[in-house]
Amino acid sequence: MNAPVFRFAPSPNGEMHLGHAFSALVNAGMAVQTGGRLLLRIEDIDVIRCTPDFEAGIHRDLAWLGVAYECPVRRQSEHFDDYRAVLDRLIADDLVYPSFLSRGAVRAVISEQEAGGTAWPRDPDGAPLHPPMERFLSQAERGRRIAAGEPFAWRLDVDKAYARVGKALDWTEWTDETMTATRRETAAPQAWGDVIMARKEAPTTYHLSVVVDDALQGITHVVRGRDLFHATSIQRLLQELLGLPQPTYFHHRLILDAEGRKLSKSFRDTGLKALRDLGRTPADIRDMLGF
Ligand code: GLU
Repeated sequence: MNAPVFRFAPSPNGEMHLGHAFSALVNAGMAVQTGGRLLLRIEDIDVIRCTPDFEAGIHRDLAWLGVAYECPVRRQSEHFDDYRAVLDRLIADDLVYPSFLSRGAVRAVISEQEAGGTAWPRDPDGAPLHPPMERFLSQAERGRRIAAGEPFAWRLDVDKAYARVGKALDWTEWTDETMTATRRETAAPQAWGDVIMARKEAPTTYHLSVVVDDALQGITHVVRGRDLFHATSIQRLLQELLGLPQPTYFHHRLILDAEGRKLSKSFRDTGLKALRDLGRTPADIRDMLGF
């Protein structure tokens, strides 16, 4: 049997904090326990918010923590052609459609319905679902508006996509990091509505590039925070549509601040660099995280 392959996949859009350290250390620990490999993937498709300094910080902080990963490191911004090719398949299969609605227009549709007393459906993160009315624009109308240079995003027609798969989707989830037991989780991709697959600035989005890369890099075990648990539903749907292998998953607990909130990249006191500057050692960090 081939060795398990894990990945730690941060976005270099801020300083690494205790939450990142926890995720990296859980991945590293599970890789050691299974005799597996650990890859690092830099998820920098947002070329505006991601910076070389933050990326350098990821390498520096992982080295400091003693988390070793294989080289070369995959940087998503260097592989837009790979994502574009997969997007082109989704376009050819008629599973995505161009959505021209501006944010303002979407807000107007939603407030009109909510003013009438009907709550607008929300996704698992609490954001309103995208109004799917442009699923039915004619090809002629789409062509005309694209040719006229109207900005648009490619959105997945989630109902059509789910129907195309033609079966219920689920995945294997490890119950904890000791990897002694698994359970089946049911995917509910429709809960996300018509998610964006590509924007005008980039031929990909998080969901599309993550499934492409997990497959290209031969990832067998996706280990990441609970905040991405529900994202797995969309990713399983894309894997099935694209004929990609399905990894097993473990969504670990999140590191919360004293008020019970998820850590954010702007909380200075939990940044690894700030903690190091205060004299904390890698052993202190492991202690703080309960290793
Ligand atoms: N790049 C994502 C993040 O920093 C993680 C993606 C993943 O692990 O699937 O939140």
